[in-house]
Amino acid sequence: MALRFFNTYSREIEEFQPRDPPERKIDIYTCGPTVYSRAHIGNFRAYIFEDLLQRHLELRGDKVHRVMNITDVDDKTIRGAREAKIPLSKFTARFKQAFFEDIETLRIKRADEFPAATDKRYIDRMIEMIGALISRGLAYQAEDKSVYFRINKFPDYGKLAHFDLTQLQSTGRVKHDEYDKEHIGDFALWKAWDEEDGDVGWESPWGRGRPGWHIECSAMATALLGEQIDIHCGGVDNIFPHHEAEIAQSEGVTGKKFVRYWLHCAHLLVDGQKMSKSLGNFYTLPNLLEKGYTGREIRYALMRVHYRAPLNFTWEGMEEARQALARINEWLLRLRETAAKKIDKGKNTKQPGQQFEEALDDDLNISAALGFLFESIRETNRAMDESKFDSASANAWLNWWERINSVLVLEPVQESVSVIISGSGVDGKAAVGSGRVIIEEAIPPDVAKLAEERAQARLAKDFQKSDELRNELSARGWEVRDTKDGQKITRRAGG
Ligand SMILES: [Zn+2]
Repeated sequence: MALRFFNTYSREIEEFQPRDPPERKIDIYTCGPTVYSRAHIGNFRAYIFEDLLQRHLELRGDKVHRVMNITDVDDKTIRGAREAKIPLSKFTARFKQAFFEDIETLRIKRADEFPAATDKRYIDRMIEMIGALISRGLAYQAEDKSVYFRINKFPDYGKLAHFDLTQLQSTGRVKHDEYDKEHIGDFALWKAWDEEDGDVGWESPWGRGRPGWHIECSAMATALLGEQIDIHCGGVDNIFPHHEAEIAQSEGVTGKKFVRYWLHCAHLLVDGQKMSKSLGNFYTLPNLLEKGYTGREIRYALMRVHYRAPLNFTWEGMEEARQALARINEWLLRLRETAAKKIDKGKNTKQPGQQFEEALDDDLNISAALGFLFESIRETNRAMDESKFDSASANAWLNWWERINSVLVLEPVQESVSVIISGSGVDGKAAVGSGRVIIEEAIPPDVAKLAEERAQARLAKDFQKSDELRNELSARGWEVRDTKDGQKITRRAGG
């Protein structure tokens, strides 16, 4: 099946044609985080969709080159640094680091490049582009010394968002902060320095100042990927004005079509509502990890709904994700056992097909692809129950899993973690022994605490308490076995 995507620009499903079919090289630009706070799960929904896109293209044999920018200068980062009373670069550094930790937890493949807006190379490129826009009459410096894009001179402005420019004109000028612009819709390319900016600023032909957010992406995208990009992604809230402005700026400079396919990810809701700090339904990745969920479970929960449909995040949904992954775990274990048994009398054994990949070819329809995965699990499990499944088929399904898991990245991990088992030693000091705990998942803090108490009970030879704690762990879904190396803790497959 041909690969097809819904292109926001045309509002139609289009067959995907890369710029360079023989090389199968595909350039993707993805708007990255603004590093003024920890990214929330709505941001990660979009980043996981982009990860799925990249991995699916790679599974098809395409060579993807992906750039994700880091916005490390804008109003929010400057305000944050000022409030924290530290330099901007120091303020943004910790959120950059947190972002990289979070994408690793979620198994999101790193982009090939993560350009930062404050890098001198890109500041120079922004200044160069703004200069070109002014010389073409597409930008002007206003009385407030800032430079603005003149949207009336760019007839295509509004095409991506399907936005009617006359709506803007009819509202006329507004006083607040807008009095220096020719048109209310004109957006800042270069913001003249003011006191609030403190020591943040760069010299330019228009005086000291800093770039507007939109020009950052145009400059980094064209500097790293050239004048035309195959695919540009982001969340739906980026469409207007951010991506609309990116088109105007880039095409205003190059005169060429900037992006061939615009793909946008829908919102994430929490319990049916927009996520907000005031509603108390605002979550970062650490918030979910603290509740005992793993990166793998969160990845699944944020991935499983088609990217153009709103995703409603709920705790029941997290439990479903946990159960779905436990089903996959059990299935893989069973397939591996069957493969190892050398059974050769399987009859009517179901063989893997192309449905998973075909579903993803169809505008990345992950819900249909996962539907096929679970239908296959049900059918092959039934065949194994009825001993109608041979080792060759088990191997065929395991190979198929390897293939589709290069996109899903949901393989259970076999992590080996050293835990300290402490208790009272004979000399009254804490006896500290290091035991290996083989786990499939990260252990939530409450479970680790119970395991720790159980280790102490055993050191004190209080076997009754030790058994009670084992039951308590079991009730929470964790199995404990005592080995000579220490306690072995595994999450029980359930659901
Ligand atoms: Zn952007």
